[in-house]
Amino acid sequence: MQRVERNPQDFGRVLSSMCTRPHPAARDAAERFLATNPGDPGTYETVASLERRAVDLLGGVVGLPDVAGYVASGGTEANIQAVRIARNRFETDTRTPNVVVPQHAHFSFWKAADVLGVELRTAPLSDYTANLEAVKEQIDEDTVAVVGVAGSTEYGRVDDIPALADLADDVGALCHVDAAWGGFVLPFTSFDWNFASADIDTMTIDPHKLGQAAVPAGGLLARGPELLDELAIDTPYLESTSQVTLTGTRSGAGVASAVAAMEALWPDGYREQYYESQADAEWLTAKLRARGFDVVPPVLPIVAADMPDRLMDTLRDRGWRLSRTGRDEARVVLMPHVDRAMLREFVDDIDEVFAEFDIGR
Ligand SMILES: *Cc1c(COP(=O)(O)O)cnc(C)c1O
Repeated sequence: MQRVERNPQDFGRVLSSMCTRPHPAARDAAERFLATNPGDPGTYETVASLERRAVDLLGGVVGLPDVAGYVASGGTEANIQAVRIARNRFETDTRTPNVVVPQHAHFSFWKAADVLGVELRTAPLSDYTANLEAVKEQIDEDTVAVVGVAGSTEYGRVDDIPALADLADDVGALCHVDAAWGGFVLPFTSFDWNFASADIDTMTIDPHKLGQAAVPAGGLLARGPELLDELAIDTPYLESTSQVTLTGTRSGAGVASAVAAMEALWPDGYREQYYESQADAEWLTAKLRARGFDVVPPVLPIVAADMPDRLMDTLRDRGWRLSRTGRDEARVVLMPHVDRAMLREFVDDIDEVFAEFDIGR
């Protein structure tokens, strides 16, 4: 058999990925739109109108019906573009623009700072979320954006977004919220994280993570079109006159699959999935604690547990795809493909490894 004909990914033991099996409607839409390019809306009109539909649907998810935005290649591009909006907006006012992020911000902000020539200032956390006093200390008159994380990559924690937006507002900076992973579960929680609950300017939210779309489908959203205009570049040889995206040719498959997934799942399907995943996160937490592991309480469906290296290595040898946090904890992301049956198998394997090899805890 040709290599490319093999099953590309078996999700049966994937525990730490932020991607998942696409919804069947999303997979089908992705296949049909494979050869389309939303970067050339004058030629590919159908996918261009689907992209407007995608942004409208995302507006429903983030509490701002007439939100502006586009479907990006992922959270990384969306974060880079958000920093670029902030930098360009204040270009004439500041000497060395800086962006203040809490320490748990995704590493894409370091890429953004490097590419865009802005200074990245990090503020320490307290109890896994941004310490507001520390953020305030980092802000000065050259701050162009303050970033809040809504669903941190390692622990699924949510910063105090309204307070961060106020701090940004005090110096006239923009507030960007990174909900790349958390955006499709947060609507069903009591957190204040979206455009309706705080004075935020831009947001990252990825359909290709908890949105169950095919890769690549990220989202950059802005409170109004004038913010996106900060990104506009003239496009001489296209029918359309300007482009705000970072990449040129883009994936129509990502756009179409994002629409298909959201039409199928928003809001009931996502809500049910969230309840199930959160219950599974709590079940796993209890099972791991009963076996003597330290577990960081799961606020959203991510579980981080302190595990000995030898156990982690043996589990990896048994096919479990398990990554570590910066503090070396094992990190289980309760994506839709991670169900109770799979977690039972995982816990059984831990018991077996302990019994067979007598690994000390
Ligand atoms: C995954 C993630 C990103 C990066 O998204 P990609 O789609 O991998 O580029 C950014 N921010 C957060 C919080 C994430 O979890």
